[in-house]
Amino acid sequence: MSSDLHIHTSASDGRLSPRQVIEEAKAVGLHYIAITDHDTVKGLLELQKEHLFPNEEITIIPGIEFSAHMPKHEVHILGLNIDISNKVLQENLQKIVDCRWRRFDIMLEKINLLGYAVGKEDVLAIAASTESIGRAHIARALVEKGFFKSVGEVFEKLLYKDGPAYAPHYKLEVAKIIELVHNANGQAVIAHPGLIGNDDIVRQVIKSGIDGLEVYHPKHAAEEIQKYENLAKDNQIIMTGGSDFHAIPKRYPNKLGIFTVDDKYALQFIK
Ligand SMILES: [Zn+2]
Ligand SMILES: [Zn+2]
Repeated sequence: MSSDLHIHTSASDGRLSPRQVIEEAKAVGLHYIAITDHDTVKGLLELQKEHLFPNEEITIIPGIEFSAHMPKHEVHILGLNIDISNKVLQENLQKIVDCRWRRFDIMLEKINLLGYAVGKEDVLAIAASTESIGRAHIARALVEKGFFKSVGEVFEKLLYKDGPAYAPHYKLEVAKIIELVHNANGQAVIAHPGLIGNDDIVRQVIKSGIDGLEVYHPKHAAEEIQKYENLAKDNQIIMTGGSDFHAIPKRYPNKLGIFTVDDKYALQFIK
């Protein structure tokens, strides 16, 4: 049996609804999955309302993916096995999401000033069910309007960090994220440390009291996996892994069940 501890849904920038993710995960025989949308637990709350979480056929570990405030690097932190009804967590998420919508207006204005006619309604037609609006939604609208060939190209030309159409968004400090996750009875894990591109930052975040490292990720090369396994062991923190699945056709893995980890990594979170 296999597991996947990093999955996005349409509650953030994934393309499958939370319900579809559950269906697909069951169909490919996954045993444990963590739903980890950017800055929101709305997908999980929806599943709960529909009586699909908790689920008798598949164990769903409730999670989230935060972006931490760091001047020069993109640092993402997963909160795993969190209590999604935690009030302090929800209040903080609401503030982040409200700021994301204000940032969305700013980026859209920049894009229009750059000569790409894209309206709010064009993006919302794609992102209708998202709670957590982001660059990926705008990029998809630009591709659909025929201005660019791929989402990747939009990021490369316009929406990369500090790029011409980029606007920063409100992010919590690493210590605050760890505190929120712990307060919601979860564990905080550095997502895809290899993508941060600077191991001094990784070590610095570990020192802030992180619980684990996402060692297994589709963008990690074999030598990075080895390196982060050692780093986790040296610091006596847990190791996790997941596909970072978004259901984007051209982005590996474009299906659940292709990139998985052993159940033992999921079992660390089952109390
Ligand atoms: Zn991430
Ligand atoms: Zn992710």
